[in-house]
Amino acid sequence: MAELQSSNSTAAQALSEAARVNLLDFDLEGLTAFCEQLGEKRFRATQLFRWIHQKGAADFGQMSDLARSLRDKLATRAEVRGLKITSEQASADGTIKWLFDVGNGDAVEAVFIPEADRGTLCVSSQAGCAVGCRFCSTGHQGFSRNLSTGEILAQLWFAEHHLRERLKLQPGERAIDNVVMMGMGEPLQNYGALVPALRVMLDDHGYGLSRRRVTVSTSGVVPMMDRLRVDCPVALAVSLHAPEDGLRDQLVPLNRKYPLAELMAACGRYLEAAPRDFITFEYCMLDGANDSPEQARQLVRLVTGRAGTPAVPCKLNLIPFNPFPASGLLRSPKERVDAFAKVLMDAGIVTTVRRTRGDDIAAACGQLAGEVQDRTRVTQRLTRPAIRIAPAPVQQEGDRLHGRRAG
Ligand code: SAH
Ligand code: SF4
Repeated sequence: MAELQSSNSTAAQALSEAARVNLLDFDLEGLTAFCEQLGEKRFRATQLFRWIHQKGAADFGQMSDLARSLRDKLATRAEVRGLKITSEQASADGTIKWLFDVGNGDAVEAVFIPEADRGTLCVSSQAGCAVGCRFCSTGHQGFSRNLSTGEILAQLWFAEHHLRERLKLQPGERAIDNVVMMGMGEPLQNYGALVPALRVMLDDHGYGLSRRRVTVSTSGVVPMMDRLRVDCPVALAVSLHAPEDGLRDQLVPLNRKYPLAELMAACGRYLEAAPRDFITFEYCMLDGANDSPEQARQLVRLVTGRAGTPAVPCKLNLIPFNPFPASGLLRSPKERVDAFAKVLMDAGIVTTVRRTRGDDIAAACGQLAGEVQDRTRVTQRLTRPAIRIAPAPVQQEGDRLHGRRAG
């Protein structure tokens, strides 16, 4: 009987935890609405928001300037629910990677990259990814689910406050002043959760990051690029990886839905509202697939508008491919990357070659693999042998339209 009672009370506790609202799920507007539901004044929400995000507090008892009655209400109805940390790995170069358990066998990763003048956090938006790019280990794992706003923010909330202590920062100093949505997942396929998370990052009562220092990286979800421009314009990085549709269709399958002409037009529209006057194009250098001088010239034509698409003011970020066995692809040799970069620079395009950080702990771009219960059979699709990685022949417009798959 005693046993039965205790299992009942454990179940009741689990139920009450599940029913508690996670305050990390709210931007300031959402938290204000929640506080109003509790019969509290709006400014209380601002105080609470600052406790959570600026001070890293999770314990309502600690929030000394909140009325006792509010703290009691919060204790029964709400919580600040961080993520369970499964592991931490530190690289010789100072990069730190955390693996977070998000339940049901899924785990996601966040990476802190310290630099001389700033600290960057690379944040995940989904458990897995449904886009299925050939060269990306997250893509190879398939897709399990979207992260909630709270799960996206919990990565920053934990990392910022943990690092402040660990690095013994002075009051008022912060560890992270740059966030890149370049971890696991396609952020623009989790738009509803992403936007409130971005708002908290930007909010002066939250993390107070500059719009120029919050970057959303996308494989090119055109309609959501248009929405982001209106709802929450931040810096935009677009993962290009190929200068023409034939090859991009194979490397980034989303291209079949939103081909380059549409993507470049969306980039142009985005710039009308963007905090920076350029788009960063990411281009992962794959040996023998997308790294020839002719492809560099094609890329110049694409971004300067000479390929019939609108010109897009941009910076080119060449990423050395981080290989993993299942991809069947290799990193371009350094000379080839340099020759490719030279073609771009000679055409007046600002070009950088990304320095690989944290590759000794598999924390570099595209190596984040967490743990994902594939619910989409992406794994199956990607192991089909039909990939042709030699440069595709230039196709006629009619062929392209005919050959493109809808949806
Ligand atoms: N889904 C988004 C953001 C996450 S991927 C996007 O695709 O943009 C972040 C960046 O890492 C992208 O530019 C992606 O193309 C790059 N990347 C993926 N796999 C890689 C790999 N194996 N080596 C190097 N870069 C990779
Ligand atoms: Fe998804 Fe980005 Fe990886 Fe492509 S590169 S599979 S969009 S996470």
